[in-house]
Amino acid sequence: MKTIATLVILFGLLASASSPAHAELRWHWENHFSEREKIQLTDWIQQTYQAIETSVAPYPFDVHIYFHRLSGAKEPVPWASTRRSYRQGVDFHVDPSFSPSEFMNDWTAAHELSHLLIPFLGTENSWYAEGFASFMQYQVLHAMNLMSAKDLDQEYKRRLIKAKSRYKFNDIPFVLAAKKLRAQRKFPTLYWGGAAYFLQVDKALKAEGSSLLKTLRDYVVCCRRNSSELNALTQQLDRSSGTFIFSRELNTLNVQAGFPRH
Ligand SMILES: [Zn+2]
Repeated sequence: MKTIATLVILFGLLASASSPAHAELRWHWENHFSEREKIQLTDWIQQTYQAIETSVAPYPFDVHIYFHRLSGAKEPVPWASTRRSYRQGVDFHVDPSFSPSEFMNDWTAAHELSHLLIPFLGTENSWYAEGFASFMQYQVLHAMNLMSAKDLDQEYKRRLIKAKSRYKFNDIPFVLAAKKLRAQRKFPTLYWGGAAYFLQVDKALKAEGSSLLKTLRDYVVCCRRNSSELNALTQQLDRSSGTFIFSRELNTLNVQAGFPRH
C-alpha cells in the first residue's frame, strides 16, 4: 500500500509539473489603467476566454494578457499580437475610452485567443494560422451570443466573396500563392483564403456527424501541449477526428490551382 501511495504522490507531482492544476488568465498592465478601466478590460477578455473554453476546451496552460494603452484611436483595439514562446499570451493595444459593448463586438480578442488553441507553425504557414483564427473569431462571437447563426453564415460568405474577387493567382496552388500574398501584404485575401480551408474542413466533418470545434476539443485535451509542425498537426487532427479530412483538404490546397474551394 505504501508503494502504491508513493507512486500516486510521485505521479501527482509529475502531472502538476507538466500541466498547471488550474490554468488561468494572468494579467499584465504595461501602462497605467484606472480600476474602472481594468474591470471593463478584464471582463471583455474573461467572457471571450470562457466562450472558447466552453465551445472548444479549457486551455492546458496559463494565458498571459498584456494591456498597452492608446488614446485617440479609431477603434477599441487597433493592434494586437500573440506571444508564442515559453509563455502563451496576447498583447492588446487598447483605447479604453470605447464602451464595453464596443469592446465586446470587436473580434480581436476572439481572434487572438483562438490562435493559442494550436501551436505556432512558423511564418511560412501564416496562411494556416490566420485562416484558423479568422474562422474561429466568428465562431467565438456566435458562442457569446453576439452573432446569430444566420449572421455567422452571411459574414463568412461576405468575407470569402471579397477575398476571391481580389485573388489574382488562379494558375498556381493556394499554398504557393500564400507566399506571394504575404510578400504583397494582401492580408485579408491571405487570411480568408486560409479560412476557406477551415470552412471546407468543417463542412466535411459535419457531413460525418462531427465538426471542427468537436475535433479541436479532443485535440486540445490530448495534444495541444506537444510542439508541432504543420504536417504533424494535420495528422493529429485527422486522428482526433477519425477521418482523413484535414490531410485531404490540405493536399488539395497544395496541388489544385485557384482560390480554395469552400
Ligand atoms: Zn491573427
